[in-house]
Amino acid sequence: MDASAPRPPFTSASPALHFEVLARCSTTRARVSRMTLPHGPVDTPTFMPVATQATMKSVTSAQLESIDPPINLHLANTFHMSQRPTAELLDIVGGVHRYAGFRRNLLTDSGGFQMVSLVKLSRVEEEGVLFANPYDPSKSSLLTPERSMQIQHSIGADIMMQLDDVVSSLTTGARMEEAMWRSIRWLDRCLAEHARSGKATTQNLFAIVQGGLDPILRDQCLVAMTSPERAIQIPGYAIGGLSGGEEKTVFWQIVKQCAAKLPEDKPRYCMGIGYGEDLLVCAALGVDLADCVYPTRTARFGVALTFNGPLNLRSKIYSEDFSVIDPECSCATCDKGEGMSRAALAALVVGKEAASASAVTVHNLTYQSALMHRAREAIMEDRFPQYLIDFFAGFFKSKDKYPEWAVAALQSVGVDLMTGVPTPKA
Ligand SMILES: [Zn+2]
Repeated sequence: MDASAPRPPFTSASPALHFEVLARCSTTRARVSRMTLPHGPVDTPTFMPVATQATMKSVTSAQLESIDPPINLHLANTFHMSQRPTAELLDIVGGVHRYAGFRRNLLTDSGGFQMVSLVKLSRVEEEGVLFANPYDPSKSSLLTPERSMQIQHSIGADIMMQLDDVVSSLTTGARMEEAMWRSIRWLDRCLAEHARSGKATTQNLFAIVQGGLDPILRDQCLVAMTSPERAIQIPGYAIGGLSGGEEKTVFWQIVKQCAAKLPEDKPRYCMGIGYGEDLLVCAALGVDLADCVYPTRTARFGVALTFNGPLNLRSKIYSEDFSVIDPECSCATCDKGEGMSRAALAALVVGKEAASASAVTVHNLTYQSALMHRAREAIMEDRFPQYLIDFFAGFFKSKDKYPEWAVAALQSVGVDLMTGVPTPKA
């Protein structure tokens, strides 16, 4: 694109999404943007917690809405909701927002990944993903791109994901190439179904860039999916097919490649990441959105996340620790130092009390939200490199514990974690 050409204040391919870049880091590729969706504005970079069904495990909608800084975008699993409450019921109720009394924005996956991971007997064909029922062949079902759209329309998600051909990130060769090209064909079918639905004014459809760990396939996918005739229909893009056990040194390079080539004026979503260091590195590479079950799942195992590293509340060392998880934390569990002691929480965790999952989940969601809120503030004030340096120092404590891939990734965008001084922009 000609940089001198006049640009509109925003370019959205959808009337249901307004995207505006508010600030850019002068060193890294990080940016702060405001993405306005049907259920309100979402400031990015942000982290989306995952609700398996209409609500999140261990916490109520009210607890979720009380989290501060607020989380304005959540992910819910299409497959689970297609089983219960079912798409038919959601059509009657008028979508999952009404069904669950949920007032925030919701992003749904296509349903394909859940099906492939949960249902062993699945087969991918050009028409869609076929799921055989081993006990009753008459109940075998086919998830087509069109059906995935229809279910996500019934859910009423603010952001819907295209059905893609999901293969392990470790797959190589012909099968990976086939999956990439098929994902593009399925994107076109999703776009056609979405256009036909009449829901394009209230719901958004995001494309998913595939191509595994092969930079050439990724480039081919990026070129195809951002072609003018497709891009005009696509308000946002995801980087898919990662976080599947690949080497982190390859992971970050693919993220960097994709983020750099995705449109400047649309949100970029890296699927399946949730560790604090992953979120901040990806933000530095130009990613706006991320999701993962990690902070909520680890909470149910009794691990509380803090800026000084994780606390495993199962450990005996907390049985006589009467401080809260984090005295600075505003969550209901910590209550800025006046809340439940680590000792009390540890007793609940060891006793497998349901309240422990709820208390630690609320804390971890607040931590994750604060992590991204502070990152946004740092980018707005153009001190993001120092924020990164401080985060790594606090979380890992010693430089020899810094993940090598994160050091290399940040170095590639001008931040040297080892010397502690931001390097001049290359
Ligand atoms: Zn807390």
